[in-house]
Amino acid sequence: MKKRVLSAVVAGMMSVMLMACGSTPEVSEAPEAATEASEEPAEVAGAAKEEASYPEDVQAVIDRGVLRVGVKNAVIGFGYEDPLTGEYSGLEIELAKALADKLGVDIEFTAVTAATRTELLDSGDIDCVLATFTITDERKESWDFTTPYYTDYVSVLVEDSTGIKGLGDLVDATVGVSSGSTSAKSLVKAMIEAGVISGDGFDEESFDPATWTDGVKFQQYDDYPTISTALSAGEVDAFCVDKSILAIYKTEGRSYIDAEFAPQEYGIATTKGSGMSAVAEEIVSGGLSDGTIAKLITENGLD
Ligand code: GLU
Repeated sequence: MKKRVLSAVVAGMMSVMLMACGSTPEVSEAPEAATEASEEPAEVAGAAKEEASYPEDVQAVIDRGVLRVGVKNAVIGFGYEDPLTGEYSGLEIELAKALADKLGVDIEFTAVTAATRTELLDSGDIDCVLATFTITDERKESWDFTTPYYTDYVSVLVEDSTGIKGLGDLVDATVGVSSGSTSAKSLVKAMIEAGVISGDGFDEESFDPATWTDGVKFQQYDDYPTISTALSAGEVDAFCVDKSILAIYKTEGRSYIDAEFAPQEYGIATTKGSGMSAVAEEIVSGGLSDGTIAKLITENGLD
């Protein structure tokens, strides 16, 4: 009898709490309060929890109150940090904010590079990556990716003084690329397809920019500003990466070569098999079907 009364009281308290909280994930606070007053905590808490249940990793983000996102800080239109205000802007920043809003938490941006983004995700320092991260079959073996939210292309930036104008002029050149990027492999494939190098010995699976010397060589760097400096210094003849990333380095006296190749589909990356993967997918699929992403692409000057 006493138990039944207590249960009724607890149920009453919970419905008031649920009403106060609406249907937001915060309802997960109710079971804790109920547990203190109830003699049947497991059953009551379990029943209420189902309404707002998230997988453990997502719930941990909600409990922490902050979504930690790896973003680029020098890719205008995607992830750009204003050097004066420290404010981030761009398509990827807006998508990250939509993700945080969905979970009802604050957001913390960590600037990442092609070389650091997966390490930080694997170590748990960040919860997801929105950083011009190209979806590839090889990468899909290690991380989950959402449906693509944008497609870019790879290109090559050169100093006008070198006279390099097309893929053919890159034969025997040294090209600066970022470690951990798709750029070197994309360029070699494009040069093979254009018939300017033979491609003997090219193997998609085992390709390594560090050892490739057949018709073009690569110098790998940890970040893009360093490649830009190397280009000015003549340490490399060309700078190869996605056009979105090259844009900020296309200063006076520099040009793109006459080639765009290797479509780069960007997706949100999350830990393989994690609950965050489904939440990220909802944001992208939802944003693609309701036109939000198309609008953000226009607003950020990316179409
Ligand atoms: N998008 C390319 C990649 O994921 C270029 C590297 C980068 O995003 O910095 O490999």
